[in-house]
Amino acid sequence: MTIARRPGPLLALVAGLLAVRRILRLSTGTVETVPLEAYVAAVLPAEIGAGAPAAALEAQAVAARSYAVARKGRHADQGADLCDGVHCQVFEGLSRATDATRRAASATRGLVLVQGGRVIAAPFHAVCGGRTARPAAVWDDEEVPDLVPVEDDACVASPGARWTFFLPRAQLPGLAARLGFPEARFLEVWSHGDDARVSALRLAAPGGRSLVVRAFDVRARASEIWGWSSLRSTDFEIEERPAGYLFSGRGTGHGAGLCQAGAIVRARRGESRAAILAHYYRGVVTVPVESLGARP
Ligand SMILES: [Zn+2]
Ligand SMILES: [Zn+2]
Repeated sequence: MTIARRPGPLLALVAGLLAVRRILRLSTGTVETVPLEAYVAAVLPAEIGAGAPAAALEAQAVAARSYAVARKGRHADQGADLCDGVHCQVFEGLSRATDATRRAASATRGLVLVQGGRVIAAPFHAVCGGRTARPAAVWDDEEVPDLVPVEDDACVASPGARWTFFLPRAQLPGLAARLGFPEARFLEVWSHGDDARVSALRLAAPGGRSLVVRAFDVRARASEIWGWSSLRSTDFEIEERPAGYLFSGRGTGHGAGLCQAGAIVRARRGESRAAILAHYYRGVVTVPVESLGARP
């Protein structure tokens, strides 16, 4: 039998109050040290919007805190824990916090999402469009939680739930060049993941050469060229037309974890923070970080 060494309640409280995160400010290269709870209140406006209903703000606060705890030291090479951009969580300074976001942080103080005894780097996104994605299908380079894709009827009427993007044939080689295959003149869906999103596309050149590329990479390169509102997600169909390719898709963002648009609609319907978290993070429990015996 092993005896877990856990801090006493007072020690845990002090550790929680003292928890800080070092945030790398990408525009200046400086590192800002901020209290964890103040950080959570400050990221909510940029991540879900300060005007979201309380239960949605609180669900987002638990997710953002979990991410900050799980990814502590992600930027250790630069002397920081997290950066202030979309790579980690968008942080535009402590002054961005509002009364509503401070209330959401305070109502969930110390609460984190846990799976298999570990705090998860809880993913979240703008709109899933009807069904969430499997995290392992989105990221293959970092440890991600094992979340079951879930149906979501709450966000389907939200902005960004449905989209189209037309890729002119003449611009395909430019996109393909960024994927290492500038000779490409044709494009098609190659495979789907078990979350029903496109997992790979096939680029083909005249003469029969072809290259299979990850849909996640195609979306990332398209975003670099045409902005985030081009290929908004990897949940799409492609229709070939004489002048190019018409993408028709669902959702905006990677699609894994909490759907922010869905969380807002659910909160307006009267669902609680706990119900929202249970829907998007199935098989995950919400516990006080101090109960894990680790310093947050
Ligand atoms: Zn980062
Ligand atoms: Zn959704």
